[in-house]
Amino acid sequence: MQTAIATVCLAGTLNEKLEAMAAARFKGVEIFENDLLSFDGTPAQVGRRIRDLGLEAVTFQPFRDFEGMPEPRRSKAFSRAERKFDLMQELGCDLLMVCSNVSPDSLPEIDRAAADFHELGERAAARGLRVAFEALAWGRHVNHYRQSWDVVRRADHPAVGLVLDSFHVLARRSDLAPLRDIPKDRIFLVQMADAPKLDMDYLSWSRHYRCFPGQGELPVADFMDALNATGFDGLLSLEIFNDSFRAGSARSVAVDGQRSLLFMLDELQRRTGRPVAGVPNLPPRAHCRGIDFVEFAMDETAAAKFEQTLAALGFANAGVHKSKAVTRWRQGGINIVVNCEKEGFAHSYNITHGSAVCALALKVDDAGAALARAGELLDQPFRQLVRSGEVYIPAVRGLGGSLLYFTDDRTDLGRHWEIDFDVPPRAGDGAGAGLTAVDHVAQSMHYEEMLTWLLFYMSLIEVHKTPVEDVLDPGGVVRSQVVESENGALRLVLNASQSQHTLASRFLNDLFGSGIQHIALATDDIFSTVERLRTAGVELLPIPENYYDDLDARIDLAPGALERLRANNVLYDRQGAGEYFQVYTKDFDGGFFFEIVQRRGYAGFGSANAPIRLAAQTRLARHPAIPRR
Ligand code: MG
Ligand code: MG
Repeated sequence: MQTAIATVCLAGTLNEKLEAMAAARFKGVEIFENDLLSFDGTPAQVGRRIRDLGLEAVTFQPFRDFEGMPEPRRSKAFSRAERKFDLMQELGCDLLMVCSNVSPDSLPEIDRAAADFHELGERAAARGLRVAFEALAWGRHVNHYRQSWDVVRRADHPAVGLVLDSFHVLARRSDLAPLRDIPKDRIFLVQMADAPKLDMDYLSWSRHYRCFPGQGELPVADFMDALNATGFDGLLSLEIFNDSFRAGSARSVAVDGQRSLLFMLDELQRRTGRPVAGVPNLPPRAHCRGIDFVEFAMDETAAAKFEQTLAALGFANAGVHKSKAVTRWRQGGINIVVNCEKEGFAHSYNITHGSAVCALALKVDDAGAALARAGELLDQPFRQLVRSGEVYIPAVRGLGGSLLYFTDDRTDLGRHWEIDFDVPPRAGDGAGAGLTAVDHVAQSMHYEEMLTWLLFYMSLIEVHKTPVEDVLDPGGVVRSQVVESENGALRLVLNASQSQHTLASRFLNDLFGSGIQHIALATDDIFSTVERLRTAGVELLPIPENYYDDLDARIDLAPGALERLRANNVLYDRQGAGEYFQVYTKDFDGGFFFEIVQRRGYAGFGSANAPIRLAAQTRLARHPAIPRR
């Protein structure tokens, strides 16, 4: 399989786009005519630049409104095509992509379209070129891949082939069965795109909302399975029209594109058990067994205050790093690391972002394999010097420049606490507040980054995504996307907002970038935990009376249950027989806070309560002096 990417996917000048593609290890590029026209130089110079970067121009596009034109427009269409052929020969590209005619003047007869393509094939072949036909979902007479295939079949010319575009095929919910019977050598080009499910006209949907495979909601895997049934091993190219991508960094979007292709083709290999030519043999996605630790970067003043809070939350000081200003706090299966080093990664993170979570460590089956997969997927490995005798923990760069560490139980990584940490003489008694594990981690990010991090996690770790939810914040709408592992060991909530006034956005401003905004800790008994926190002086987010009145009206609760929730500022949700209880701490410097949750057979995240919680946090931020009940 030869993979490629279209210039239309990326922002920047043609030269910037090409450099970004080469840096992201692409070999093939689809040249959009507009990018060529806006280039300050001849097509031959563009061709040389492409080859100098180790790329190949695999397609030139688009050629529009060609087939089925009445005279004299038919003759004009052919002379237009000849001019494109001249240009392609100068450029060094042998395939012209023709999309189906949208002109109201075009004729409906399929034999006429086929005859036009036969002639175009003759003219192309005379120059050693080829043409490929794509059915636009909004084409006038040809808008389905079965129709474009019919035209190509009847054109019956070796220089005329078919384009299959996953967006056009899947947006129309076309039956994929006939696709499996198309001879593979008649498919000249496959264009890949995913998209969110939206109820809008095909043209606007396609031109603005396409995204990379795996980022959207179209059944891309079904398309790939059907394509695979043909034995297709030709040209597979990303063709994404997306407003955010075209406003983003060309380099980062190109890397996302390569990652999405590798992930998609790796999944195909795993489903079929057969290697796809040209696709590396990747280790499997990392199976997460749990969150090994969460690391905070702080200065000493902030750390002293934060560690008091940790103690009040029931954490015990369980270790002091042998060579660094790093302490370990532990409760149940939760490890929190507070890093006050004056040099190195955590320090620079602290300088840039203030007190914040700088790293998340995942316990996986095989940390080395996870790092190897990350490398193949163009994730950015991170390495910091460790003293001899100390454990090197593999890591990649994650959200907002933070780190994602991998540990396992196969090597010394399973003993990094014992090897790197001394147990302090006055280790806490560990009586705790009943907190057992990290339930979920919520990350706030820029709206434009959301698809990037979604793909980052999905491609690297064995997680699936749940449908996007829009949550109401007093300052606007927050888009929320969950990625989670089947075993519940890892649940990440990705939040982003286009409004500057939501809590998620204010957090981004306070933190100078994306990062972890809250960590939810699990308890088996929320009321007992709240009782112990209250005794220890932990202030929880006050919830308004109205919430409980509404809850009473919405949900049938056992006698006394409502009073108990109200008295303890506990938010409650129910899904079927599943129950969910939540409380929140006040936020710390920089806007970070903890949530404490109890699940009883409940799979969600209390999104029905999120507007209430966000309003309560906003009220507190605006009027911190108002006495609390
Ligand atoms: Mg297309
Ligand atoms: Mg939460």
